[in-house]
Amino acid sequence: MSIGPNFIRLARLAEERCVPLSVTLELGLACNLRCVHCYNFDRDLPRHPSPTRGAEMSDAEIFRVIDEVRAEGALFLAFTGGEPLSHPRLDEFVAHAARTGMLVRLKSNGTLLTRARARDLTRRGVRAVDVSVYGASSRTHDDFVRQDGAFVKTLAGIRNSRQAGLEVRLSFIVSSANSEEVTSMIVLAHRLDVPFNLDTHLTARHDLSRSSLGLALDRSAFERLYRGPLAPFVRAPRAQGDPIACPCARSVCGIGSCGDVYPCIGAPLPAGNVRGGGFRAIWRESPTLRWVRGLRNTDFSACDGCSHAPYCHRTSGVMLNNTGEFTGPRNFGDDACCVEAEVIHEAAEGTEAKLAG
Ligand code: SF4
Ligand code: SF4
Repeated sequence: MSIGPNFIRLARLAEERCVPLSVTLELGLACNLRCVHCYNFDRDLPRHPSPTRGAEMSDAEIFRVIDEVRAEGALFLAFTGGEPLSHPRLDEFVAHAARTGMLVRLKSNGTLLTRARARDLTRRGVRAVDVSVYGASSRTHDDFVRQDGAFVKTLAGIRNSRQAGLEVRLSFIVSSANSEEVTSMIVLAHRLDVPFNLDTHLTARHDLSRSSLGLALDRSAFERLYRGPLAPFVRAPRAQGDPIACPCARSVCGIGSCGDVYPCIGAPLPAGNVRGGGFRAIWRESPTLRWVRGLRNTDFSACDGCSHAPYCHRTSGVMLNNTGEFTGPRNFGDDACCVEAEVIHEAAEGTEAKLAG
């Protein structure tokens, strides 16, 4: 399940042939935490049923969708939410997906991964878990998820998952609430002996509210980070002119809790609903997915030719949520991604100048 050369080859092939190799499925929006930045909806406010998205999928619909994505070529299935462990039938979904031959991973906050639960889920077929962590201390993490004791439970969940034989990856979300703890967060991952991702982008919520952006990093925070703990990550991840489009809608697909099919779970651009004809027809025929697949660099007007593009961590999901445009930003600087790319670019040139001098 780790990203090795075989996975990269397979992903390339899937992209070329538009096979939904990696699917992320939201089982529901229920969660035992109330994170400040939660992309689902503002968990401080009562949730109203979405008039456009309808009700959450029934258990029978989820079983059917698992079969349908497998039939269309999915090999990697990630269950998310909400908190997937809050779903009363998670175990059965896992066992069912594993029986079809898919490799199952969970995207979890880790708090419910007791020793027994981690062992049981492993036995049923979960292979890996991504655990979200929002700081290196109880105070920072618990404030962010708005639950006392959550940090301790999350760390226990990470250890329990490893002991149960699961592949564990930490997902650190970096915000202005924890940017001073990034060094300690990296140390924490090393101490736990697990790989990690650092995500520096907060997004507006899928219910279109924007209070989640209140803790987004600003220029001075990016400068401090890329001159400090993130200096080892200062490099050009791609070459000028490389494709700007992500693998969205080619080898990657997301399905929301109400059955909407998206190019990626992070990019909630509805392409159809599995209740109205099934996954296969949407994946093959949806005009929205075809439009995404047809995008060329010239369709990303601000990014095409942008001098910071090689250093940019832009994704179409972040752009869609934050600017309203899948091919955004419309203008350089409309999103924090641009500020970050400019800072990384400056830091990389500073490093090169030092090495040359
Ligand atoms: S753990 Fe995930 S789903 Fe739950 S509140 Fe936090 S961000 Fe939202
Ligand atoms: S810095 Fe902004 S305009 Fe340039 S490639 Fe990144 S997102 Fe596009």
